[in-house]
Amino acid sequence: MCGIVGYVGEQHPKEILINGLKKLEYRGYDSSGIALVGDKDIQIIKALGRIVNLEEKLEKSKVVDSHLGIAHTRWATHGGVTEANAHPHRVGKVTLVHNGILENAASLKEDLIKEGVKFNSDTDTEVGAALINKYYDGNPLYAIKKATSKLKGSYAFGVIFDGDPKLYAIRKDSPLIIGYGKDGNYIASDIAAIINYTKEYSLLDEGEIAVLDDEKIEVFSDGKMVTKKKITATITAEDADKCGYDHFMMKEIMEEPKVLANLFERYSDFDKLPDLSKYKEIHIVACGSAMYAGIVGASLIEEKCNIKCYVECASEYRYKKVIYDRKTLVILISQSGETADTIAAMRKAKDEGIETLAVVNVETSTIARECDNALFIGAGVEVAVATTKAYILQVAMLSMLVIRTVNDKKALKEAKKIPGLLNNILEHKDIFEGVGREIYKVRDAFFIGRGIDYAMCMEGSLKLKEISYIHSDAFQAGELKHGTISLIEKGVPVFAIITDENIKDKTESNVVEVKSRDASIYTITNDDTVPNHGFRYVVPKVSPYFQALLLVPVLQLIGYYTARYKGLDIDKPRNLAKSVTVE
Ligand code: GLU
Repeated sequence: MCGIVGYVGEQHPKEILINGLKKLEYRGYDSSGIALVGDKDIQIIKALGRIVNLEEKLEKSKVVDSHLGIAHTRWATHGGVTEANAHPHRVGKVTLVHNGILENAASLKEDLIKEGVKFNSDTDTEVGAALINKYYDGNPLYAIKKATSKLKGSYAFGVIFDGDPKLYAIRKDSPLIIGYGKDGNYIASDIAAIINYTKEYSLLDEGEIAVLDDEKIEVFSDGKMVTKKKITATITAEDADKCGYDHFMMKEIMEEPKVLANLFERYSDFDKLPDLSKYKEIHIVACGSAMYAGIVGASLIEEKCNIKCYVECASEYRYKKVIYDRKTLVILISQSGETADTIAAMRKAKDEGIETLAVVNVETSTIARECDNALFIGAGVEVAVATTKAYILQVAMLSMLVIRTVNDKKALKEAKKIPGLLNNILEHKDIFEGVGREIYKVRDAFFIGRGIDYAMCMEGSLKLKEISYIHSDAFQAGELKHGTISLIEKGVPVFAIITDENIKDKTESNVVEVKSRDASIYTITNDDTVPNHGFRYVVPKVSPYFQALLLVPVLQLIGYYTARYKGLDIDKPRNLAKSVTVE
């Protein structure tokens, strides 16, 4: 999940690489490092923690004159968070940065040690560097090809060789792009890293080796040069800017009405959307918030379309025995389209000859390219690690699929009103700041609801715990008393989500049960007849297709303000990274 950026050209790479790393910090921020090729030697500087630490170190160092460099921000998989384990790694004549996991690193390392190689880190990455070095006899393409043929797992490598003024790149199951600049060329994990310098880029395909110098980029596939299709990036430099907000997360929540309006507009001609009614069964496969968006969608699919719909987390789905009905559709949801487990789940379904449909944000991503059919949510760039606008759009996209399947033209009209209603809620966001102030010192919190309300609870609970570090659980309201209610004591916040008219009284009874045990009740509902037990917020009542789009932003704001009162790094919560490109 690390971020990679590399540059070769007329400029000194230092600033380009540091700016690039800052844009990629969402991909990991355990440590970072930079390698600058000087006249005589390669200068490697590494620092623990955020990119600013690396920047400070560089300020204090005498930096070599350079025109070629690679840099990396790490999300450790193999080896602790130490400077020795930070990238770039150098073995012999090879210096490289790596994103991914080399699954057979341990056995390769044993062999290399027997051959006399000395290792300085605990990473799998250093094994990759040693292997390329082993096969390097002055021919970089041969060395890279030979070494990678021995590797199992995933990798995006940026490689430099001593005495060679070129930059080399290869990838398998981890993303990497090549960027064409005016005064030099780039590699990066994603276009955001280099958007201030160029908008022209190509996707490196699996197994291709890119060779960059200051004038050109050549790409080889099986030894033959290939012509790459150039893409012009649609993101802007502002997309990667906070635009006056204290945090990207708040900026992105405030963007929700606009991106929702765009999505409804884009798909207003809903006949172009797939009709789910031709399937007997639907599997929604995703991870984290995307899976929770899937649970909201599944509830609507079953309720409105009468189609069996299962939601599975991708890391389980990819390994379990799935008994497919031939008329099954597998829907994969991923913001980045690079989520490793979701990619594997997609490939599993495809191998079985099952139709796949992706709901993704990044249009050039692996999932978008490999799926049979892809629907793009158009969230733009989402920087905060905790997803907000992409989740909302994933739910909206699934709702549109349901609306199309049941041919509900009235709902299309209602869709137009949703962004405005959400805007009104966001304008009064201070209300939720008050909730954050009340609860930020608690140890535990619970979210309860039934049916589609429970699906929203799961996302509200995840949002709170991932950014505020408060332990939080979501429960089906009726299930709480089968064990977990023993955790309820005086002052424990319990958020009750009540929008489903048919079962609101049942959930309310469960609320009273926890209230009797002195929990502090926060009710979020669409019904002003639901009792107020201390805090109650009523969102406008809309049809079930859209209710989560008005309610979940409230939960996102509660998570945000709680973390803010705790003084935490909201956009980059500890141990997390945004695009989970490792298993
Ligand atoms: N496996 C490498 C490490 O631990 C890279 C990790 C990643 O891509 O997230 O350093």
